[in-house]
Amino acid sequence: MTTEEKDIYPIGEVPPLGFVPKKMHAWVIRKDRHGNPMQSFQAEEFDVPEIGPNDVLVFVMAAGVNYNGVWAGLGKPISVLDVTKKDYHIAGSDASGIVWKVGSDVKKWKVGDEIVVHAMTWDHEDVEVNGGEPMLSETNKVFGYETADGTFAQFTAVQAHQLMKKPPQLSWEESGCYNLTLVTAYRMLFGHAPHELKPGQYVLIWGASGGLGSFAVQLAKTVGAKPIGIISDNSKAEYVKSLGAVGVLNRKDFNCWGEHPDIDDAEAYGNYMKEVRKFGKALWEFTGKGKNVDMVFEHPGETTVPVSMFIVKRGGMVVICAGTTGYNLTLDARYLWMHSKRLQGSHFGNSKQAHAANNLVLDGAIDPCMSEVFEWDKIPFAHEKMFNNEHKAGNMAVLVGALEEGLKTIKEE
Ligand code: NAP
Repeated sequence: MTTEEKDIYPIGEVPPLGFVPKKMHAWVIRKDRHGNPMQSFQAEEFDVPEIGPNDVLVFVMAAGVNYNGVWAGLGKPISVLDVTKKDYHIAGSDASGIVWKVGSDVKKWKVGDEIVVHAMTWDHEDVEVNGGEPMLSETNKVFGYETADGTFAQFTAVQAHQLMKKPPQLSWEESGCYNLTLVTAYRMLFGHAPHELKPGQYVLIWGASGGLGSFAVQLAKTVGAKPIGIISDNSKAEYVKSLGAVGVLNRKDFNCWGEHPDIDDAEAYGNYMKEVRKFGKALWEFTGKGKNVDMVFEHPGETTVPVSMFIVKRGGMVVICAGTTGYNLTLDARYLWMHSKRLQGSHFGNSKQAHAANNLVLDGAIDPCMSEVFEWDKIPFAHEKMFNNEHKAGNMAVLVGALEEGLKTIKEE
């Protein structure tokens, strides 16, 4: 930490504690740059954000790479700048950092506290936020996606309820990479009564080596459930098993992905169902003959939902938080009603769920699954890897204020 007061600091230099410079470095998306991450993310000098009475200014030490940064850069399916009505967007929904300045009404946190942030904001005065369910509030917004000032910057302004204790046993980068996917997975598995995942139940997890999937596998294990992970590359199988999966299947061994075929096209429908049944039978290798999974953890969307809805048990739930491969969901509705199945939408989590999930990391029950650490300059490149599904298993972190410390770790590896 330097003692010198400056207007702007180079990445990796930590200003005097609590001193707020005028400017900061940030990766900024603008409308005329929408496209692949290497094009849409550009480095700029930017004003340090102001804070309101219930807000906290955080000095970002490390941040996490999430798919929503890819969507923000692409401007697809919509341009987030049309949502925020701003002419810039700083992506980044995960961070570890240091409390730098607190708003006049903030009581729980003080300058110097080491924290991680969760990725949901809302209007404190909305009724759903006061005795209801904040995730049903029309005011909720994903931080760093539906809000313009995210964590790919030296400073970020957050609502005080977003702050949670940083796990002291973890590095800055390990702490900065996990909350968005962990909290989303937590709500998906445990937030939709009466289908909360229970001991002994089987859950099929798509993309089990990915950000969401690596946490879904671990969370399922914490309650004594039995996760079955799906991958597309056999080299990821051991990793998924090491997280706790009782079985792993490679989706490339089956050919039943994409839109549900026309039921009146007997040949196409017959061939499709043959392959779906082959997939279902492969799952029975782990669950036992005739026993279908209790829950499916969905996020690929268009390519997998028709199969997810077929293979889940009678009365079971398919819970979905994304449509990475497309939003046009198709299914054979007969199984939905005849077998009383549930298709449940899920989105991030409320503060209570975020804290419950973070507590599991504080207790050492959940590993942050950090896959790779990138230097500040490589933020667009890390997103490009994710966009091309070329990233390593787990969650990617990037170094901001912790650049010097983190670089030592990268070099030692
Ligand atoms: P990720 O780390 O890239 O993992 C996604 C996984 O999906 C990949 O590892 C890949 O595994 C699998 N996949 C890719 N193409 C597939 C296909 N055609 N069929 C089946 N599986 C496929 O991303 P993530 O962080 O887990 O996020 C996944 C999605 O969830 C993104 O769209 C993200 O925006 C969204 N999300 C939503 C929320 C929310 O609150 N609503 C929160 C977090 C994330 P294999 O290739 O090994 O199968």
